[in-house]
Amino acid sequence: MTRRLWAVFLAALVVVAGGGLFALSAAGVFNRTQPTAEPTPQPTSDTPVPTSTPQLTITTTPPTTSTTPTTPTTPARPATKPRPSNPTHSTPRYVFPVGGCRADASQSHHDYPASDIFANVGCLFVAPIDGRVDEVSRVDTWDPKTNRGPDRGGLSVSIVGVDGVRYYGSHLSAIAPGIRPGVTVHAGQTLGRTGKTGSARVTPPHLHFGISWPTKPNTWWIRRGAVAPQQFLNSWHHGGQLSPVSTVAKTHRAYGADNGCREYC
Ligand SMILES: [Zn+2]
Repeated sequence: MTRRLWAVFLAALVVVAGGGLFALSAAGVFNRTQPTAEPTPQPTSDTPVPTSTPQLTITTTPPTTSTTPTTPTTPARPATKPRPSNPTHSTPRYVFPVGGCRADASQSHHDYPASDIFANVGCLFVAPIDGRVDEVSRVDTWDPKTNRGPDRGGLSVSIVGVDGVRYYGSHLSAIAPGIRPGVTVHAGQTLGRTGKTGSARVTPPHLHFGISWPTKPNTWWIRRGAVAPQQFLNSWHHGGQLSPVSTVAKTHRAYGADNGCREYC
């Protein structure tokens, strides 16, 4: 009897407990906690992310002042523009001033700093650097009896380079078309042709080449040469790029105030 009662009681317990568990699971007690917690943080966390992403995109776009495809192009262009202009001024290109011929530059000069670059008549006198034409002499008024300083150069051209230095070539047989004061010239551009005008009438043909600092017009005693050009000519003749800028500045300071021709006038 007792065993039978126990069996019935246990069976009843199993049914009740099982039904209770079924009822709990059917009510979603176990499932509710998990799904409710998970989906809630997900949409909550998803919502702010997309909101912050477009905000960043918007913030980035206004400073570039352009659309997304234009953005990479726009900053590249202004960055590229100043670059070529800077090197143009800081590192100008130098070329040897006589082209198309054999040319021998004298390593010394009489009375004042300059170089006589011996070359046949008709060789090219070219701009040694980018610059602007300073003064041009188109007439040969030299007279051996007077040998006046202003007349010795004969036909000549001077330019002021983008480096601020003046370059002068004289005894020319011809001046290139269009070469006149104020005209812009480029390194290697023909300024004239070598010759025997001025005092070179009585010497072998050569280009008298002078380096100096810019002055007032007709300051021929400085224009003819104030700085020894040999080391620079030798550099350019071999493709070098030695700049006379610092030497010219130093010499100019040492020269002091200009009160007219000092020697070989
Ligand atoms: Zn000379």
